[in-house]
Amino acid sequence: PIRARGIRKSFGALEVLKGVDLDLAKGEVLCILGPSGSGKSTLLRCINHLERPDGGMIEFNGVPVGYRRSGDAFHELPEREIQKQRAAMGMVFQRFNLFPHLTARQNIMEAPRRVLRLSAAEASQRAERLMKQVGLAEKIDTYPGALSGGQQQRVAIARALAMEPSVMLFDEPTSALDPELVGEVLDVMRSLADSHAMSMIVVTHEIGFARSVADRVMFMDGGVVVEQGKPQDVLVNPEHERTRTFLRRIL
Ligand code: ATP
Ligand code: MG
Repeated sequence: PIRARGIRKSFGALEVLKGVDLDLAKGEVLCILGPSGSGKSTLLRCINHLERPDGGMIEFNGVPVGYRRSGDAFHELPEREIQKQRAAMGMVFQRFNLFPHLTARQNIMEAPRRVLRLSAAEASQRAERLMKQVGLAEKIDTYPGALSGGQQQRVAIARALAMEPSVMLFDEPTSALDPELVGEVLDVMRSLADSHAMSMIVVTHEIGFARSVADRVMFMDGGVVVEQGKPQDVLVNPEHERTRTFLRRIL
């Protein structure tokens, strides 16, 4: 559902993405690895137009992201239209971004109510189904502050799924967690991947997860894709010295 070509992005004089191509097929799980500052988060944020790329093009389900094509020209979409596109891409960040003054149920219900115009009963039912799916049925009326970091991330996943996205974008969803809480979040992501219904891009340093779950692994450094391929190839027999150095450092 995603096709990106030649994505460029600079912040002032700093060129962060230097022409990145990315393809994600339906049901595919792509893991992105790379050192800090290599542009992974910026790439994800360009894909859902939280950042506006300086060059290149991104298509989501065959439609340009953030722009409308008329003849040869592209016009940026109004914010409301961009939000609609963004709603179809679930995003989970490193830091828990739940609304602290809302319970898990209310957090999950918010976007389906506001954007999809679901009734309170329908949205509430959806919240119950999703909280069960992430193994937290009994915490549905709990506030984020009373949940562990791992539980908060599982609610964040449920909340993203509530919009029935056709892709999920994960930006280091476990890297702010205490080690003993990482597994429960990865398990939820693994079962989502196993359902084969969800296309996923996962920025992660969890090599074990990437090796066992990813269909493809992409290694980025310095704003370019250094190499990509099957997990076995990229993680076990990388072609490039930069990839080998990176893997040695994190393993
Ligand atoms: P990490 O593994 O640490 O999350 P990353 O690969 O996700 O790194 P990015 O967050 O994409 O890297 O950042 C790439 C570079 O762009 C960094 O040097 C960062 O400081 C810079 N950068 C990112 N966002 C902005 C911004 N809004 N304004 C200025 N510079 C930015
Ligand atoms: Mg990042």
